[in-house]
Amino acid sequence: MAIGFINGEWIPVDQTVLPIDERGHNFGDGVYEVIRVYQGVPFKMREHLVRLEQSAEAILLTMNYSIPELEALIAEGLEKTGLQEAAVYLQVTRGIAKRVHLFPDVPASTTMTIRPAADISDKIREQGVHVTLVDDERWKNCFIKSLNLLPNVIAKQKATDAGFYEAVFVRDGVVLEGSSCNLFLVKDGVLITPPANRFILHGITRATLLDIAKELGVPVEEKEFGPDLLLAADEAFLTSTSMEVMPVVKIDGRQIGSGQPGEIARKLHRNYRAKYQQIGV
Ligand code: PMP
Repeated sequence: MAIGFINGEWIPVDQTVLPIDERGHNFGDGVYEVIRVYQGVPFKMREHLVRLEQSAEAILLTMNYSIPELEALIAEGLEKTGLQEAAVYLQVTRGIAKRVHLFPDVPASTTMTIRPAADISDKIREQGVHVTLVDDERWKNCFIKSLNLLPNVIAKQKATDAGFYEAVFVRDGVVLEGSSCNLFLVKDGVLITPPANRFILHGITRATLLDIAKELGVPVEEKEFGPDLLLAADEAFLTSTSMEVMPVVKIDGRQIGSGQPGEIARKLHRNYRAKYQQIGV
């Protein structure tokens, strides 16, 4: 069963109604998180909630629930749904108030959905995906997980319409991230990913994989690179809470490495799975 939460009330997801003056609706004035639940246990929940607080702080928004309170709410919602494999979508906005730009003097608005996880098929992961490089038209605060996703939505739609799985943003000759994921490449045995600066979202999956790589003794570099290095990579892959590790085998029609999902990507994904499988037991 899927469930919704609106400012203190749990409601079946198809019956949730938001006031028309919700600032998330009017201005996209809010922040969000997506947390994957494996075997009944939310994975990296604390990290996601800390990032939510950081995003809120970055837009000068005071949240109306603390991290422990949100953890308790997520646990309560999961119990209500009985779901073992779920996706928690959590959103905090600047509240419900007449539509004027200035910040209203009202509490934040917190909403959530908990639904069955929509897993990506192993077949897609085994084949790897094709992506396209696109100009990054987003603002300069991409480290904030803000509700304003218009450039991401448009980039994803155009990429999909052109037959690609994902669009990868490039800003001033620097490769950054996908419309809803981070990006890694492997060159000569070194795992390389763009640095966690203001131009990318500091992905929780990204951080987890960097930890795993270090545990496995895979050399890691967080550094800027351009399309040339990406196209010359031995491997490339995307990461996110919902994609986990998704190998990229072609970029704008050019084959990456052998044209098959790479060994390091596979190994990192096996170890990522092992991490979340352990937490449920
Ligand atoms: N970058 C962007 C732009 C994203 O939207 C996401 C996923 N929401 C990510 C990276 C990956 O973040 P995470 O690993 O925390 O899901």
